[in-house]
Amino acid sequence: MKTATLQKSDIGKCLELLIQSQKRVIAPKLRPRLDSPDAIDVLMLTEMESGDNHQVGEGILPLNGVKEFLFVKHEPLFAFENKDNKVVIRNVHHKYPETVIFGVRPCDAASIASQNAVFSSDNAGYDDPFFTKRLENTTIVTYSCHTGDQSCFCTSVGLAPDSDRGSDLHLTEISDDKIHVEVKTPAGERVANILAPLFQGEGDQEARETAGKKAHKNISRIRNSHLIKDWLDDQSNFDDEMWERLGEKCIGCGACTFMCPTCHCFDIVDENRGGKGYRVKFWDSCQFDHFTLHASGHNPRDKQYKRYRNRFTCKFKIYQDKFNAQGCVGCGRCIRDCPVNLDITEYMREVDLKASVPNALRQDPDFE
Ligand code: SF4
Ligand code: SF4
Repeated sequence: MKTATLQKSDIGKCLELLIQSQKRVIAPKLRPRLDSPDAIDVLMLTEMESGDNHQVGEGILPLNGVKEFLFVKHEPLFAFENKDNKVVIRNVHHKYPETVIFGVRPCDAASIASQNAVFSSDNAGYDDPFFTKRLENTTIVTYSCHTGDQSCFCTSVGLAPDSDRGSDLHLTEISDDKIHVEVKTPAGERVANILAPLFQGEGDQEARETAGKKAHKNISRIRNSHLIKDWLDDQSNFDDEMWERLGEKCIGCGACTFMCPTCHCFDIVDENRGGKGYRVKFWDSCQFDHFTLHASGHNPRDKQYKRYRNRFTCKFKIYQDKFNAQGCVGCGRCIRDCPVNLDITEYMREVDLKASVPNALRQDPDFE
């Protein structure tokens, strides 16, 4: 089976079937962001106990991405104990449950390849077994977007609201009540076999293409974003006035990096109490002032705008140079969640202009 049709009202039953088949099922759900009685509900990818109250296909994008289920926020690497002046090392047991993440938006699914480029031996030259084992046991069921919000810009970075990159099983709404299902990988086929009792004949490819084209029109696009890499490659732009002008409002909170599905920086520390503890890997952020602080006290990124310059350059140049992968998938989370409204597309638009219009013309007072 390569395609099928599913009733939208049967998504809850799909989740039930997967739970019954002993999978850990993650899907978008409304739940409080904080553990407080006053906290408001937000859309979050959440481990499901049943098929009830899911929000698959609803809203724009969950607050969290698939990243935290593959590259977890805080993870012990091993335990240690100081016994009679000898350090004893103990392995920590990690679980890698068979997981289906259901209703992943296309930008999030595309970001998995970017993370994989960093954490797997294919590009990085070594495997991070914590990441790669989780990925091996995870099946991604994507759900096309039919619209975006003002922060979405996937079409400016080579993706689309109906893109199936990174997908094992791809779902697209083709009417108010019907979903077109496409099997993309053997892992997707295995999930499709579990869901087969709910499928009704073959899919409708033509309706799927029409839905994709319609959704495409709903996403704003930066026209010459392909010029950004060349502009960043030009070393003379490293000290362009734009960096400080746009970046001065950044307060270095790191929210953009934690929310970003492709950001992958981590630190490793020993959490030690009374001579025993764990060596722990946890998310870090290039937006923190001590991220590049040397032991000597020197900091090559001593101003906040330089840290943001690094973030932008990482997304649109370093990722490509170093990992041959996409650094930004246009999800817009860093725009929605920035407390000072710093907008990465503002940089993209400026660079687009700088790269496509000669300097002399830009300085002409009549130029608009
Ligand atoms: S750009 Fe915004 S979210 Fe990112 S570190 Fe600066 S203030 Fe925080
Ligand atoms: S840089 Fe911003 S828009 Fe791009 S993938 Fe990261 S969070 Fe999404």
